[in-house]
Amino acid sequence: MVTTHETDKYVYDFAEGNKDLKDLLGGKGANLAEMTNLGLPVPPGFTITTGACQAYLATGREPDGLAGQIEAHLEALERAMGRRLGDPQDPLLVSVRSGARFSMPGMMETVLNVGLNDRSVVGLSDQAGQNDRFAWDSYRRLIQMFGKTVCEVPGEEFEHALDEAKRAKGTHDDLDLDADDLRGLVETYKKIFAKHTGREFPQEPREQLDLAIRAVFESWNAERAILYRRQERIPADLGTAVNVVTMVFGNLGPDSGTGVAFTRDPGSGAQGIYGDYLANAQGEDVVAGIRNTVPLQELERLDKTSYDQLLDIMARLEGHYQDLCDIEFTIERGKLWMLQTRVGKRTAAAAFVIAGQLVDEGLIDLDEALHRVNGAQLAQLMFPRFQLDHEFEAVARGIGASPGAASGAVVFTSARAVELAAEGKSVILVRRETNPDDLNGMIAAQGILTSRGGKTSHAAVVARGMGKTCVSGADEIEVNVPAKRFNVGGRTVSEGDVVSIDGTTGKVYLGEVPVTPSEVVQYFEGSLDPERTDDALVRAVHRIMTHADARRRLAVRTNADTGADAARARRFGAEGIGLCRTEHMFLGDRRELVERLILAATETERTDALAALLPLQRQDFVEIFREMAGLPVTVRLIDPPLHEFLPPLEQLAVNVAVAQERGEDVAKEEALLAAVRRMHEENPMLGLRGVRLGLVIPGLFAMQVRAIAEAAVAVTRDGGTACPEIMVPLVGAVQELETVRAEAEKIIAEVVGDSGVEVLIGTMIEVPRAALTAGQIAEAAQFFSFGTNDLTQMGWGFSRDDVEGAFFWRYLELGIFGISPFESIDRDGVGRLIRIAAEEGRAARPGLKLGVCGEHGGDPDSVHFFHEVGLDYVSCSPFRVPVARLEAGRSAIETTGSDSR
Ligand code: PEP
Ligand code: MG
Repeated sequence: MVTTHETDKYVYDFAEGNKDLKDLLGGKGANLAEMTNLGLPVPPGFTITTGACQAYLATGREPDGLAGQIEAHLEALERAMGRRLGDPQDPLLVSVRSGARFSMPGMMETVLNVGLNDRSVVGLSDQAGQNDRFAWDSYRRLIQMFGKTVCEVPGEEFEHALDEAKRAKGTHDDLDLDADDLRGLVETYKKIFAKHTGREFPQEPREQLDLAIRAVFESWNAERAILYRRQERIPADLGTAVNVVTMVFGNLGPDSGTGVAFTRDPGSGAQGIYGDYLANAQGEDVVAGIRNTVPLQELERLDKTSYDQLLDIMARLEGHYQDLCDIEFTIERGKLWMLQTRVGKRTAAAAFVIAGQLVDEGLIDLDEALHRVNGAQLAQLMFPRFQLDHEFEAVARGIGASPGAASGAVVFTSARAVELAAEGKSVILVRRETNPDDLNGMIAAQGILTSRGGKTSHAAVVARGMGKTCVSGADEIEVNVPAKRFNVGGRTVSEGDVVSIDGTTGKVYLGEVPVTPSEVVQYFEGSLDPERTDDALVRAVHRIMTHADARRRLAVRTNADTGADAARARRFGAEGIGLCRTEHMFLGDRRELVERLILAATETERTDALAALLPLQRQDFVEIFREMAGLPVTVRLIDPPLHEFLPPLEQLAVNVAVAQERGEDVAKEEALLAAVRRMHEENPMLGLRGVRLGLVIPGLFAMQVRAIAEAAVAVTRDGGTACPEIMVPLVGAVQELETVRAEAEKIIAEVVGDSGVEVLIGTMIEVPRAALTAGQIAEAAQFFSFGTNDLTQMGWGFSRDDVEGAFFWRYLELGIFGISPFESIDRDGVGRLIRIAAEEGRAARPGLKLGVCGEHGGDPDSVHFFHEVGLDYVSCSPFRVPVARLEAGRSAIETTGSDSR
């Protein structure tokens, strides 16, 4: 029997797809299909799948069957349109557009007007009502775009030729070039093309199409696309789909135009109609911010029929997608065409406000609202804003394109931004308009300021995506990049001068403006009542946070070492302390006691030093226990090597030498120096620290245990409640823990007596060996807390204090990891150690309490992982507590992980 293998399906007509096929058809293709099936006016076309791109990128050639499928779909398109691609009399023209699973604005390629050649340009002119100018302008755009994108002809050469043509005509405006000028320009462009490629500009329409499709496939691996993916954590192997769409023209005269619209304000979330419109222009002109647009509402005056139709479609789309939609459209001689829609990117504030509104409107439920916001957005809303008084007067006002308050030194190029940022300086990248090549600079800068472009310009879209402050279209500013300065209101601002930009109001200030806390923080702190305020953001945050708390399984604790930190964290919703590091309690005016402890020559000297430290420590813990009022408090016994409490070796050696030279009495300093020398370690992070210290310095841990137990008893006797959990750091073997525990239990029993105080004893899991022998360690531990900082350090063998600055940039560049494993948990490696320890620990001791207290406890993605592996709580710095609460809620409702891009 013969079995036939159907070739993979690589091409889908718009009528065959739908919005849920983003993996296959990319976001743009899936949504074009959805709109087509909704009966909206979408120019006909088809989508080549991401699978075809993946196959092309893997093998360097188009997969079998693709060419035939394109042929068949093209023929169907030609039949439907009644025109043939590039037909000399009545040409069908198409655009070839990239469109990946996740939106990557401006990062990949588009070629418009495919199908034009020396003959069809005449047919296009006839079609357009003998509009020669339009036809030749379209042709020169094709050669320019095709040359640059498909054949890597340097774009400046075309731009230079265009400038020359304008100079010859004595104008600055493209629109002054007539048909003859443009015909001449086409000839010049063709020569440029031939010079760089060694061949004539391809006249065969199908060849143009195939080469353009191939160029879009390849643009997936363009440097800027790779960089963007890394920044946005988009997987590298998805590939892009390619959309082949019938061209419609917004540049056919005053009754044509193009625009971008949002169904709600993507900046604030407010309801209404937002967008930009540009008459007599092509779509690319709006997104690139090349000419300043007019507000969408103007369209009502210019073309009421199209405006009403557009509003109607926007309402339908929003109802259909149940979310803010972002739309691109073109009007060709009074006929409206929808070129794109997607669930629109929005600012952090808008994300919360819109989610709340959609719940009110009954379009989504609270779970869905929670799904649609994320911890990174919440963190952004907790940033301070400018504190303005009469001293600061805005020198310019643009569009608040991406919120936040940013101050920094002005730079005019991406390269300079990167350079100064590497020196640790805050910079504001100032450009007339940004383009995708500015991505590096935008990443490096604190904020972005442009003098051209609207809310939908490249700068605005990319900055919002990155959560970076951006003011666009501040047109009072005259930017002079070569001279490295800008002029505004008669003043000159040069490279290096400091400016401040407010991404909410769009205002620009000279100098550094002080900042004020966010209203979201005021709400968390309890000084803004969500029931009383008319601040829509605070109300939405309150509502969603309340739901997250109701849904989450993970408890959220905080890392806090002082009463003040503990108090703040409680206001932020912390349900206990997951890590109280005791080392800072050995600094300041206690340094001298610690020195005495380290230098003690006799048993008595040592016990005296410890006895002097005991009441001080007890008081520390009393404060914290009182503040936490019966919530669990995990106190970690001292962790860093003791020499960290002594002066640095070099400084001490110099002091001693100088003092000796002067004949001063240096006995004490000499003893100190000898101790520092004795304690010097080549690898202190792997040396005498944590539990090892407790086992080597008699009485040290015992003093701390006693202080904790006495503090708990004192608080209880005063009518309070204290729930201390003593945590032993850096345990690698159960015997270490058993030894500490035996001594601690004796002290606890003696101190606690019949006070009713209960003290748990547990351990950190932060050494790989501890994770791998967790079953044994659990026998001696009442709880585990994962120290993911050290676990990452020792799991990877990365010195945590050195590597991020030293070489992580290269690892990120090479894609060895997409984000530092110190920032977000490495699920495969370090995560596996956690999984093993959790499983084996709980197998040995059912119900073993598990938490995490490394930095990862406040990282959104990591919180999802900790939820998945079944930890009981995460602990993080006070400021991250709301973020962890929100993400814990989101993890509980999302079994498939976070996907809020
Ligand atoms: C850890 O290692 O993750 C931890 C919390 O301890 P520290 O950062 O104090 O070493
Ligand atoms: Mg540690």
